Amino acid sequence: MTGIFTQSPRTTALHAALSRFMDEHVYPNEAALYAQVAAGATRWKPLPLLEELKDKAKAAGLWNLFLPESDQGAGLTNLEYAPLCEVMGRSHWAPEIFNCSAPDTGNMEVLVRYGTPAQQERWLKPLLAGEIRSAFAMTEPAVASSDATNIATTIQRDGDHYVINGRKWWISGANDTRCKIMIVMGKTDPDNADRHRQQSMILVPTDTPGVTVKRPVPVFGYDDAPHGHAEVLFENVRVPVENILLGEGRGFEIAQGRLGPGRIHHCMRLIGASERALELTCQRLSSRVAFGKPIATQGVWHERIAEARIAIEQARLLTLKAAYMMDTVGNKVAKAEIAMIKVVAPNMACKVIDMAIQAHGGGGVSDDFPLAWAYANARTLRLADGPDEVHRAQLGKLELAKYR
Ligand SMILES: Cc1cc2nc3c(=O)[nH]c(=O)nc-3n(C[C@H](O)[C@H](O)[C@H](O)COP(=O)(O)OP(=O)(O)OC[C@H]3O[C@@H](n4cnc5c(N)ncnc54)[C@H](O)[C@@H]3O)c2cc1C
Repeated sequence: MTGIFTQSPRTTALHAALSRFMDEHVYPNEAALYAQVAAGATRWKPLPLLEELKDKAKAAGLWNLFLPESDQGAGLTNLEYAPLCEVMGRSHWAPEIFNCSAPDTGNMEVLVRYGTPAQQERWLKPLLAGEIRSAFAMTEPAVASSDATNIATTIQRDGDHYVINGRKWWISGANDTRCKIMIVMGKTDPDNADRHRQQSMILVPTDTPGVTVKRPVPVFGYDDAPHGHAEVLFENVRVPVENILLGEGRGFEIAQGRLGPGRIHHCMRLIGASERALELTCQRLSSRVAFGKPIATQGVWHERIAEARIAIEQARLLTLKAAYMMDTVGNKVAKAEIAMIKVVAPNMACKVIDMAIQAHGGGGVSDDFPLAWAYANARTLRLADGPDEVHRAQLGKLELAKYR
């Protein structure tokens, strides 16, 4: 299952149970889930079928499998979670069915690590139970947000409240009517000489006056309902001082703690999506005849399929190495490996899924196969959670620092 990295009997059993659940409940319901979105009176309401599948996953013990170093989840390490997250990445719907989808996983990790007991009671508990959803609001349309020191939203103290003003976009999950809480990043101390101490993170309930979800922002035309990515306006939004996370000026510290696990989870899921794309390619090419012979027997496809297999295996090994390092030396020391895999996995997935689209002819770009959406998703991950160039720049610096 994970090559040279041995798995425990417990995770081997979980992997088998998860794969069985996918075969029995997820793949057969994918078309019906898309149909429920299309038929919804509003596109942003919970899907009854998805909620049913969540109950089934919970009953099967396939719930909150993320959350390393915590007694709140399944207690798996990153290395143990990797093959499970990979299986979930095979389907658009699966991560949420197992309560393991972004941005909730990252937000739950923030609340576990940095939340006060009161914040955990109010927000973490219902998130872990899958009763509500959440969003993470950092990116802003007006500034280059890949450099988070640019984030300009203001968070100003006013007595026993903070007042928040700013405009965000690409806020995943904010359109969803179940989204009840946002973690918002902004500046509490814009004049601090240390640019990394200007920022804070604060909890903002979505029903606070002044919070307006302006519009869904589609990706290549997909609005990803009922989850989606929203533009959100904050106008004189007042929240109690207790809503600050960890304390003023600690936003960067939290962002670093949050982004490591979030990034590697995306990579794990992309490997699953690539495996499925390769599987569909082989099935499709073996079942169609062109110019007198099965397409699979045309030499060019042997070459492409071999390259895809090589690329997936390489990416998986690097993901597992990064997960192993996170478990053994911590997310901070593993930052080079996390940056490497965050570049490798989305680029690999884009190539493999693009090949699968080609193999499916016109069908590849339709919604009759999961490939077009998978490609759109993989492409966004060359931007989201840090564009490729930012990770490469960090890696270049780390490498050169060895020679100083
Ligand atoms: C589908 C999707 C979901 C998202 N979800 C969320 C979310 O839930 N919450 C949230 O806060 N944000 C979210 N984002 C936003 C995402 O994290 C940002 O788009 C990303 O950080 C880049 O910021 P930007 O768009 O402002 O690009 P910019 O900062 O304007 O960068 C533009 C380009 O400049 C180049 N560049 C930047 N830095 C360098 C460098 N050092 N060297 C060379 N070139 C460079 C890169 O090519 C980069 O793509 C999401 C984005 C997408 C597409």
